[in-house]
Amino acid sequence: MILIIGAGLAGLSTAYHLGDRSCRVIEKEKEAGGLCRSYQKDGFTFDMTGHLLHFRQAAIKALVEGLLAGRLEQHVRRSFIYSHRTYTEYPFQVNTYGLPPEVVRECLLGFIATLAKPAATRPEDRSFKAWILDNMGAGIAKHFMVPFNEKLWQVSLDELTSDWVSWLVPKPDLKDVINGALGIKDKAFGYNPTFLYPAQGGIGMLPRAFLPGVRDIVYGCELIEVETTRRRATFSDSRVEEYDTLVSTIPVPELVRRCTDLPKAIRAAADGLRCVSVYNVNLGVAREKISDNHWIYFPEPEFPFYRVGFPTNFSPSLGPRGCSSLYVEVSHQPTRTVPDTMLIQQIRDGLERAGIFRPDDELVVADVKDIRYAYVLFDQHRARALPAILEELARRGIQSIGRYGRWEHTSMEDAMAQGKQLAEQLRAS
Ligand SMILES: Cc1cc2nc3c(=O)[nH]c(=O)nc-3n(C[C@H](O)[C@H](O)[C@H](O)COP(=O)(O)OP(=O)(O)OC[C@H]3O[C@@H](n4cnc5c(N)ncnc54)[C@H](O)[C@@H]3O)c2cc1C
Repeated sequence: MILIIGAGLAGLSTAYHLGDRSCRVIEKEKEAGGLCRSYQKDGFTFDMTGHLLHFRQAAIKALVEGLLAGRLEQHVRRSFIYSHRTYTEYPFQVNTYGLPPEVVRECLLGFIATLAKPAATRPEDRSFKAWILDNMGAGIAKHFMVPFNEKLWQVSLDELTSDWVSWLVPKPDLKDVINGALGIKDKAFGYNPTFLYPAQGGIGMLPRAFLPGVRDIVYGCELIEVETTRRRATFSDSRVEEYDTLVSTIPVPELVRRCTDLPKAIRAAADGLRCVSVYNVNLGVAREKISDNHWIYFPEPEFPFYRVGFPTNFSPSLGPRGCSSLYVEVSHQPTRTVPDTMLIQQIRDGLERAGIFRPDDELVVADVKDIRYAYVLFDQHRARALPAILEELARRGIQSIGRYGRWEHTSMEDAMAQGKQLAEQLRAS
């Protein structure tokens, strides 16, 4: 028996690709989807912040296009950065045109200086801060990369490693940085110049599309305890399940905490894994087209949020006619919380300062979701501890996969790909 814990995209994709192999999915919530659920409130459909589909793997793109045939729309990204009271296109490093001239000069001179000097440290030893300075230069670091990332990660960037960065933030060519400073656009940048999104129903349509291919799924049932040597799992409804393989997609520190018989060193290693939480504040406003954009990044400290998106701009059916919807993302340390009313007021003030809200705008709905595990911190402890934790679990018949099972910074596509790959291995064994 293969027991799958969690019906997010990783767990669903595993079960779906196991086909007729006997397996059971057990999910603590009342519905499937994990972070890719959508929900309805006061006439709006909201996701757990923006969940947009971009693909690097043809097989996963084909899988999703098959599951949601005729229900996906492609959009050309309209994403901007708001700083120095100016909107510039994302990514910042190749779009400084329009910023104050002294800022553009600092960015250009800083970038040019990176070309002359070799990187100070070996890539594997380099902190994220050093990576930014080596690849982008002091000006781009000062005006975007450092303040934005410190707001997102809530720690000094010296504490983070840089091994995860390069596919998300490629180093641009000098020509592109100069073109960007002069306002010349001749190509698209970044990992997501276009994206796909369901025309109706929000991103929750995707996990729901897996369900006809998943035969045995139990909802409202939380994994409480695992005896790894006896291969036995106990759940919140008192059921006890025996398994040959346990596929876990829950955050790896939560899994390790629930395993009663792991070595002390593994438990201590898992306890030291760090992450940042995100308040996802979903807003509905009684005004059409409150912005023209899909999403906007906010590096400056006067704004409490690091990103604001506008779902009704890529799927108008997500809000009532004459209204706009927004998702606002505010990072916080897991232990530092803010009451909902205070958070909503701070956000409203920030949106007014940015010129997005007008003082007389009516908030039709404001709903706060706290995403406890949002962004995994890539630090030296993670680099040392994670391989040992995953190996020890695998030795005991537990495959920990998905964004939080592998404790990594990966996308919906990766979660589905990991589930597919593991299912193929299990089918072959
Ligand atoms: C703020 C934010 C924005 C994002 N934006 C994008 C984006 O635009 N595009 C993109 O591709 N990706 C995005 N992602 C990443 C994407 O959400 C994840 O890669 C994907 O959802 C991970 O799926 P998963 O199945 O690994 O994990 P999850 O979705 O977390 O699924 C785990 C499941 O396990 C269940 N569970 C937990 N504990 C237990 C327990 N003890 N017992 C039983 N069940 C349990 C949970 O309820 C959940 O259903 C974003 C992530 C965040 C945080």
